[in-house]
Amino acid sequence: MATNGALGRKLRMGIVGGGQGSFIGRVHVTAAVLDNRAALVAGAFSSDAARSKASAADYDVDPSRAYGSYQELFDKERALPADRRVDFVSIATPNHMHFPVAKAAVEAGFHVVCDKPLTLTLAEAEALAKLVSSSQGVFAVTHNYTGYPLVRQAREMILAGELGEIQAIRAEYIQGWLRTRLESEGQKQAAWRTDPTKSGAAGCFGDIGTHAYNLGRYMTGLLPEKISANLKVFVPGRSLDDYGHAVIRYENGALGTVTASQISHGRENDVRIQIDGTSGSLEWHQEEPNKMIVRRNGQPHAIYTRDPNAPFMNASGKAACRLPSGHPEAFFEAFANVYRAAFDAMADAATGAVPEKTNTIYPNIHDGVEGMYFIEQSVASSKADGAWLPLKHPLARR
Ligand code: NAD
Repeated sequence: MATNGALGRKLRMGIVGGGQGSFIGRVHVTAAVLDNRAALVAGAFSSDAARSKASAADYDVDPSRAYGSYQELFDKERALPADRRVDFVSIATPNHMHFPVAKAAVEAGFHVVCDKPLTLTLAEAEALAKLVSSSQGVFAVTHNYTGYPLVRQAREMILAGELGEIQAIRAEYIQGWLRTRLESEGQKQAAWRTDPTKSGAAGCFGDIGTHAYNLGRYMTGLLPEKISANLKVFVPGRSLDDYGHAVIRYENGALGTVTASQISHGRENDVRIQIDGTSGSLEWHQEEPNKMIVRRNGQPHAIYTRDPNAPFMNASGKAACRLPSGHPEAFFEAFANVYRAAFDAMADAATGAVPEKTNTIYPNIHDGVEGMYFIEQSVASSKADGAWLPLKHPLARR
């Protein structure tokens, strides 16, 4: 069995969300068990109690631990002996439920892995951050693109100065699935994402723009200063943005752009990032995640492939690989790398160590707060005709 250090056993996982017909909950569970360091033992899988019970069999969870609500999950699990109850809870519900569930989980003493965006509002995110800062628990946020080996490779290269000073970041997340009003055709995922009471102040910019923004922050470590954004609703009848772009000024003078679309014909999950430094530039696409291009004027373009044995790979890149080069690794493995780092912290916490809350390999509560600030300032800037607004939150990762 893969190690959980001094803990000496698998971590016990509970999940909220992930019921029949849902998307990302199954990915959380698959990612969490990939390294054989965790097992799913309990869940409140759905907002509907009967569907929650019905979903248990899909995960081989004992029916007695398929709960009708998240409150019941926390109450009943807390009452179990310490050697049976869940260690951590993953949250894979629509956005409006992240805060109540995460708050209850932290208060009940469980570690948390929460999906993005962190909460429905910035105020909720700030309240949650306060709670997490005084807890002993690990809190990870699944900005899962940070888990790709070549993203980790790029991050270490950039932080070591291999591209010189970073002057420009172009981050995009382009989809096309909301080109029509899918939300009026009973498509569940579209319905809540386009509903401000469930999605939050932004649509596309909250759902996927936050991933693109987070990727630039994670890979460069540059602190933002100001943002100017233009968000648009292009599909008639929709109330939240389905397209937008933002310009970001970073403290060191760099310029960044974030473009997010859900209305671009034929585009699937096209997350792309291009970063320009004074001595090199790089480019990475998640739809072809095992390659990264590094360019330097006057030299042939270098294609880095994900290869755990290659001398050009650095320690962060190698540590994030599971398979030899050429066997494609992708979404599940990257997601599992977020879990792997969070599990290391949970295993440490079991020895009494207080978890590091800010400088973690996995995206954490600070990244979550920054994502919410990005959303709220983008929406506010757009409403004010692209006015420049502050973007450096006091709780920003640094
Ligand atoms: P979904 O609609 O497919 O699934 C949501 C699930 O949550 C359903 O099973 C639903 O019944 C359940 N749920 C709703 N309210 C609940 C409650 N009160 N108690 C228990 N379960 C409840 O949504 P999805 O596409 O899987 O998205 C879920 C979350 O994951 C969202 O916050 C979304 O932004 C995020 N997400 C992240 C990624 C990523 O790559 N990190 C990808 C997709 C979605």
